[in-house]
Amino acid sequence: MATPLSATAVLTALRAEGVRVVEVGNWRTHNRNSKGAWGPVNGSIVHHTVTRGTASTVAMCRTGYASLPGPLCHGVIAKDGRVHVVGWGRTNHAGGGDARVLDQVVAESYGSRPTPPTKGNANGADGNARFYGWECENLGDGKDPWPAAQYDAIVRVQAAICRAHGWSAKSVIGHLEWSSDKVDPRGFTMQQLRADVGDRLKHPANWSPGQSAPTAPAKPTPARPVVDLSLLTAAARRDPVRSGTPVSYTGARVVEAALAAEGLLAKKYVDGHFGSATVTAYAAWQRRLGYTGRDADGIPGITTLKRLGKVHGFDVVA
Ligand SMILES: [Zn+2]
Repeated sequence: MATPLSATAVLTALRAEGVRVVEVGNWRTHNRNSKGAWGPVNGSIVHHTVTRGTASTVAMCRTGYASLPGPLCHGVIAKDGRVHVVGWGRTNHAGGGDARVLDQVVAESYGSRPTPPTKGNANGADGNARFYGWECENLGDGKDPWPAAQYDAIVRVQAAICRAHGWSAKSVIGHLEWSSDKVDPRGFTMQQLRADVGDRLKHPANWSPGQSAPTAPAKPTPARPVVDLSLLTAAARRDPVRSGTPVSYTGARVVEAALAAEGLLAKKYVDGHFGSATVTAYAAWQRRLGYTGRDADGIPGITTLKRLGKVHGFDVVA
């Protein structure tokens, strides 16, 4: 149950949903409000016009005829997908319908479709107060095709209304689901339409079907760490015990992680301080590569460091 959207609000909602709107005459104030209630609104009804020709269809929906004064709906959804708004407020589109269906629409509680109506124009509840109404240009013979642009517009219009009110697609019904004496719309099922509206509501209003989801920016390849040999050896030569100042260098952590992966250094020493434990571990790495004596003193050299980097994924600059 909701206060009806203002003319400005519905225009904004339709355009945000990508609907091509044609404003017809004084549509904002053209209505039947002097004849009965308008609102609270609970849903939206889709109709077919049983007409051919957009201009004459729009004119008829705007002015109506002797036995049924216009406006006959809020908007005419033309074959080309444009939506001609002809009135705003109470309009003569829904007539009488089944109050049980209204309850199901209010609660959005039904399954794939509401309980088939047993009330109609003669003895039903006032649908003109409770529903937005959309007349779709079609002969209604089940043969007249529904162009893709028109069907897409129908989906967009219904989604715009639902989105504006926070309703689900179950707030959209066909006239045949409201009144026992109506057959419209014909040529597509309301179950399909609700599925498409529901799908649309999962996307932002400016979504176009078939439009691929925005591609996630390519995951940046993690930068390969670069170890500066001179910074590393400076850290290694600086005895934190004597200097009292442990030198922290991110490159040292990279090398320590590699030594730990080689099983030469306990993980607790992977701390970015190239201290005595790391020097001892690096000496073991040098010996593993065949170095001995002063060549295996635990102070990294370019050859052994590059070998370690090749295996463990870091580069070395000297
Ligand atoms: Zn109808």
